[in-house]
Amino acid sequence: MMGLRDVFCQERAIDMLQKAYACGRVPHAYIFAGADGVGRFTTALQWARLLLCHKPVVAGGFADSCGVCESCRIFEGGAHPDFAHVYKELREYTKDGKGKAAPVEMPIDVIREFLVDKITARPALSPRRVFVVSEGEKLNNASQNCLLKSLEEPPDFCHIILLCTRLERLLPTTKSRCQIVRFGPVAVERITQKLQEMALAGPAVEFFGRFAAGSIGRACRWGRLELDGAGIYEAKNAIVQSLAQLRYGGCLDAAERWIAMGKQIAAVWEKADEGISKSDINRRCQGLLLEMAVTAINDAMKLALGAADDIVHADQRGAIQQLAGWMGAEACGEGVAMGYEAMRWVESSVNEKLIFEHLLLKLAEPTIMASRAAG
Ligand SMILES: [Zn+2]
Repeated sequence: MMGLRDVFCQERAIDMLQKAYACGRVPHAYIFAGADGVGRFTTALQWARLLLCHKPVVAGGFADSCGVCESCRIFEGGAHPDFAHVYKELREYTKDGKGKAAPVEMPIDVIREFLVDKITARPALSPRRVFVVSEGEKLNNASQNCLLKSLEEPPDFCHIILLCTRLERLLPTTKSRCQIVRFGPVAVERITQKLQEMALAGPAVEFFGRFAAGSIGRACRWGRLELDGAGIYEAKNAIVQSLAQLRYGGCLDAAERWIAMGKQIAAVWEKADEGISKSDINRRCQGLLLEMAVTAINDAMKLALGAADDIVHADQRGAIQQLAGWMGAEACGEGVAMGYEAMRWVESSVNEKLIFEHLLLKLAEPTIMASRAAG
């Protein structure tokens, strides 16, 4: 059975929690801040299990759940009465949420019905109650205001943990009521090691290691999807290749191919992960492809500026060189910005065809000039 000590590569964050636990002053509201997939949710789960445990074990100054008491066993089974995971898809189970489309933001109804309204109920089994709120960056102002009183004056037995990838999205009033624990990126070598343990092989391992930018959770997810035949690495090769050879007249075809690749990955992902809504998976796949394009253009910018080291797409250096050649450093810089803008559009649910076509046409604009000059 897993415990806090098994959390991978987050020694500093765990240390902070341990210190609070050791002196008996555990804050009632935490924000676990860091990128997607660096271990915030795993840590929150194990931390909750320790707070709920009937007989915590302290060894060498490190406190952990016992793994055998009634609380630990029920927690492991996934139905602990004093633990609540609050996430936006719960809207379907709110009073007015039945049949509504999967939400993009965290609906206020979810915060009210699954947290605020329940916070005063006494623990049923354990000394405490723990609420873990996923995707805190998707709490809009109304949801945050609704949560405020609970963060400010929670009952003694209550603990709230907000997971958040983007602290700037939280109101100052929310942040000031919480203790912030930062989760840093995981080293590339630890990530590739983990992927190899999953039996992933070939150039995809090294690429995922670099592309994950410290997010071991994302890398492992890609690894699992790849083993299921999602073709993520193949898609990234095709994307880099199509950017290297981009021509204005070929943009619509390229956009169509990118969309088809996104759908192929989404189809495998849907089967592997039933907890995420279909539209969220589509958005994530589109975002993933755009991220591949953005990192490729960013690599090209580095090469154009003569900074040849540590590029993400080192496995396709030739194609990146080609891209750098026709775009040039300045257009690459603009291209990166356009790519990020496209990623924001994905988050706001803009039509994918529109996003990809618009981006590729904008990127290819310099090729019109070039072909005129040549002709
Ligand atoms: Zn226990």
